[in-house]
Amino acid sequence: MKTIGLIGGMSWESTQSYYTLLNESVKAKLGGLHSAKIILHSVDFAPIARFQSEGKWEEAAEILQEAALSLERAGVDFILLCTNTMHKILPLITPHVKKPFLHIAEATANALHAQGARKAILLGTKFTMQETFYTEVLNAHHIEVVIPDVTSIEKINRIIFEELCVGKIETASKEIFLKIINDLKCHDEQIDAVILGCTEIGLLLDQKSAHLPLFDTTVLHVNAALKRALGRL
Ligand code: GLU
Repeated sequence: MKTIGLIGGMSWESTQSYYTLLNESVKAKLGGLHSAKIILHSVDFAPIARFQSEGKWEEAAEILQEAALSLERAGVDFILLCTNTMHKILPLITPHVKKPFLHIAEATANALHAQGARKAILLGTKFTMQETFYTEVLNAHHIEVVIPDVTSIEKINRIIFEELCVGKIETASKEIFLKIINDLKCHDEQIDAVILGCTEIGLLLDQKSAHLPLFDTTVLHVNAALKRALGRL
């Protein structure tokens, strides 16, 4: 089994999901006392979130580059950056790191493709929804992307940073997400999937409450890591 490097803490609420899902899946696949080989570098999210909001992406990249290099020195085989948003700066980091990263949007696009999905609503931080670094990966895999209107983007972004990233799971916020999804679907019958493009949204929404198939990027990132760690990629 290969050793998985995790850059976590963004937020630690979702890094817990990575740790649990990786171990549960290895246990399910290998049985007995087997568990995932993981090295976790968990950062302090407060300065990173501040750099995001101030547009100081190079400063944030320096912190994540140092985290990646520490994982490399510790002997990981490959690395997961446990956040969709920070994939914005992955191109600044990869030239300095020898070990490969498993890109969360690539893992997501492959899963959508495998399920035959063609047109997906993307929910995530405002950076993930409004900028091109994420949608262009999906488009390259022939997935058409629909994003909510500006008011809804602000609502979703606020819920992510003020609630989900600090461990608050509110029923009212779940209703807001479901209404946004339903409104978009009502206006476009061709929509056939929803991407939970923020690693905390799976803490709020589950498949039972949604009328469209949900693609949880945390789960899909973990699944891609497992294939690689267990030698099936
Ligand atoms: N975990 C989130 C994501 O997947 C948001 C936190 C961040 O801004 O990195 O995008």
